Amino acid sequence: MKVLVLGGGVIGVTSAYYLAKAGHEVTVVDRQPEPALETSFANAGEVSPGYASPWAGPGVPIKAIKWLLMRHGPLVIRPKLDPVMWVWLLKMLRNCTSARYAINKSRMIPLAEYSRDCLRALRSETGIHYDERQRGTLQLFRYASQLDHTAGDIAVLKQYGVPYEVLDRAGCIAAEPALAVVEDKFVGGMRLPEDETGDCHMFTEALATEAARLGVQFIFNTKIERLTSDGSKISGVVTSAGLLQADAYVAALGSWSPRLLRPLGISIPVYPVKGYSITVPVIDPDGAPVSTVMDESYKVAITRLGNRIRVGGTAEISGYSDRLDATRRATLDHSVTDMFPRGGDLSKATFWCGLRPMTPDGPPIIGATRYGNLHLNTGHGTLGWTMACGSGRVLADMISGRKPGIDASELSISRYDRRFG
Ligand SMILES: Cc1cc2nc3c(=O)[nH]c(=O)nc-3n(C[C@H](O)[C@H](O)[C@H](O)COP(=O)(O)OP(=O)(O)OC[C@H]3O[C@@H](n4cnc5c(N)ncnc54)[C@H](O)[C@@H]3O)c2cc1C
Repeated sequence: MKVLVLGGGVIGVTSAYYLAKAGHEVTVVDRQPEPALETSFANAGEVSPGYASPWAGPGVPIKAIKWLLMRHGPLVIRPKLDPVMWVWLLKMLRNCTSARYAINKSRMIPLAEYSRDCLRALRSETGIHYDERQRGTLQLFRYASQLDHTAGDIAVLKQYGVPYEVLDRAGCIAAEPALAVVEDKFVGGMRLPEDETGDCHMFTEALATEAARLGVQFIFNTKIERLTSDGSKISGVVTSAGLLQADAYVAALGSWSPRLLRPLGISIPVYPVKGYSITVPVIDPDGAPVSTVMDESYKVAITRLGNRIRVGGTAEISGYSDRLDATRRATLDHSVTDMFPRGGDLSKATFWCGLRPMTPDGPPIIGATRYGNLHLNTGHGTLGWTMACGSGRVLADMISGRKPGIDASELSISRYDRRFG
């Protein structure tokens, strides 16, 4: 089949790679000059199935109020006269019950674990490098109360058979030796040894090169204006470079997916949640993290990527704005200088923001639509890098008429037709 993949972020490129491996004739179209220049560009670098949880959970509404009032808080809401924003927030609230959380998490963990396995297989198959490391991730607690509250997380990790280590101060320092100089700033942590790290942009670029070797064509600098249909099937995609046609179409447009789908009568609850990162050159490797340290108090992830430290965080609900807010940078600067004061040169850091394509329940949307030849792979929110390979593989299997490696039926858009969407 001829398949046209709309969007060349990490989700579009992994989809294209697995589709090409399955024998399809694949083209990727994107408005940017290269792959992964939007949300997949400078994320926090965690491939972390262990942390694959919905943001909507029991207790989150109360915590959200605290976060909104906190200096360096992880959540910012800039209210807008946009009904889509409010409907999305209400849907998220509705998913904050224990029952919904359990269902949503049970849909995310198998995909995230499968995705990490696919990434490992892909690495050995292609030999690609992306400043990757396989040294686990460490959630660091500044306060004893945070350590006391891990019981719920541990129960879930046990339920899904995810290996974990609860560490005291010395254990954290053994995992991340640079923390020795700030040992009075934290009380302990939880380590997920099976998690990995790596640069999502480097990965996507390298995989695009592999995909091109398999025959995938990339059409860059091309804006998708709209999709056309004959009522039951997609008949083409109108772009700034003219009409593109294929047998099947994959929408992997991140936060912009709902905008291009809405005129077709397809409504998906994907909304942009802005996040920020800084990338800091390492000046003292012994003072830098060896993997990801998640500073739990600020929900800031500090990750070693080769000779750089990537520091990412903040959930800002402010529509599609891509304005860089200096206050958010102050939070990232604070967290990294507090925990790794000698590691990097902040004066040479680059500042970035991206729009996480979030669903209110947490899992992405993968699978067919009521247009027989239009498939979705979008809404990966805070975990798109973690879930990319698994999502691409599942989608390629579905389009090829093969049974996916995991049960993906609950990831489809049809879950929103039911009561709790
Ligand atoms: C601060 C931050 C930290 C994060 N940290 C992590 C992490 O540690 N681990 C993790 O797993 N995930 C993380 N994420 C989430 C992850 O980065 C995203 O889920 C992922 O990048 C989404 O990929 P995507 O391909 O769906 O979207 P994108 O990368 O945005 O790709 C969509 C593509 O569609 C193209 N496009 C859109 N509209 C059009 C149009 N009209 N015409 C043509 N092209 C179009 C865009 O150019 C873009 O290339 C983080 C995100 C942020 C913001």
